[in-house]
Amino acid sequence: MGAIYFASDLHLTAVEDPIFDRFSALCRRVAVDGQALYLLGDVFEAYLGDDDDDPLVAAVGVQLRALADAGIALSFTHGNRDFLLGQAFSARAGLRLLDTQAVIELGSRRALLLHGDTLCTDDVEYQSIRRQLRAPQWQAQFLAQPLAARRAFAAQARAQSSAHTASAAAEIMDVNAAAVAELFEQSGAEWIIHGHTHRPALHQLEGSRRRIVLGDWPRAASWLRVADDGSAELFFEGRRVVVD
Ligand code: MN
Repeated sequence: MGAIYFASDLHLTAVEDPIFDRFSALCRRVAVDGQALYLLGDVFEAYLGDDDDDPLVAAVGVQLRALADAGIALSFTHGNRDFLLGQAFSARAGLRLLDTQAVIELGSRRALLLHGDTLCTDDVEYQSIRRQLRAPQWQAQFLAQPLAARRAFAAQARAQSSAHTASAAAEIMDVNAAAVAELFEQSGAEWIIHGHTHRPALHQLEGSRRRIVLGDWPRAASWLRVADDGSAELFFEGRRVVVD
């Protein structure tokens, strides 16, 4: 028994950085009263492959492994930044890799977990790039390149992504309401939990349906905590919102 924690969009860049300290603090919290931690993507600002010798990747792996060794169930779903996180890192860190969408039983509720980028269907340009980057053949070719070449590609991709984010209309960067409604229907979930949009919120939809959006971490930590009794709290921007 113990609480279940969810977090996403840490966008970790370095060990010597306040975001990493926030991540360490969350790990300590989970170690105290947690039974599970779900990381829903974009834990890393960039991820170049499990063979990356970046000290950040190693440090995150060590922290997660300590939780796993303490009996805490760790799960990870890919974000659009760390979609190359693979089996080797997962084995080192003690993570279970989830599919793009995963349904879990959360007490008496069914919850659907995902990063959230696949719900942003109005961003046609992004969805097209996503298809390319998720193709196994593209990934195999990319991972076969030397790390220096991968680093250069990632820096360029981030610059292009920033330019796109700056120029695209704000509405298309959010989830599409029809895509959300369809996902509730298809999955039969009461809760959809995701990140990606950097628009943390509790959306109270019809009946018992809730869309819980985890916040991004560059300014403050954000997580969802579901207690043994099913009560849940969403933390973001120094605020605490009770999910009811
Ligand atoms: Mn994302």
